[in-house]
Amino acid sequence: FDRVNILGVPFVRTTLKEMSEQLVTHAELKEKAFVVTANPEIVLHAYENDDYKRSIDKATYVTADGIGVVKGAQLIGEKLPERVTGFDLFMRLLTMANEKGQSIYLLGASKEVLPKTIAQIETQFPHVKITGSHHGFFDWADDAIPNEIRETKPDYVFVALGLPRQENWIAQHMDQFDHGVFMGIGGSFDVLAG
Ligand code: UDP
Repeated sequence: FDRVNILGVPFVRTTLKEMSEQLVTHAELKEKAFVVTANPEIVLHAYENDDYKRSIDKATYVTADGIGVVKGAQLIGEKLPERVTGFDLFMRLLTMANEKGQSIYLLGASKEVLPKTIAQIETQFPHVKITGSHHGFFDWADDAIPNEIRETKPDYVFVALGLPRQENWIAQHMDQFDHGVFMGIGGSFDVLAG
């Protein structure tokens, strides 16, 4: 992919359709990918915080999460075709995973919200296999979550811990996994739970 650099963050010049198809291909080929859907808040936080920037630098793809980033590209004379948000990508990947019978792991949101998110996925995407899940208020020193992901080998790992935790969690743990598409999706579990 061609990239556009905004404040040191390399955004891929891509569309929702193209990005989602690329990620499905990575999953099918049992490859590893880390996707950051970056809004202006993420760009600024990476600009101001070196540790967070190092996490973002590990991403395979950074997409423009919101019109603010698309407009920001225009300001520096560049063009990003459209926004590719975390929620839209999450919905599209669930749709394609449902068609292909692929598997997912869900990490994040509160103890109360997560079961509702799972119930929605089971209803709307019945052929998606959920290999495991954990709410987002856990001890980072405990290896139970990465161990479960390593053992159950999901095609996609959706991490809804908010900024900067979700990108830091993925960056810190992804070396332990053989394959999978890893993506931070902010408040998307809450949105899907209704
Ligand atoms: N969250 C979590 N663990 C935390 C903090 C937040 O799982 O330690 C979840 C929260 O329940 C919500 C999601 O992360 O589902 C996004 O949270 P928030 O809206 O605060 O994040 P942001 O909008 O900054 O990305």
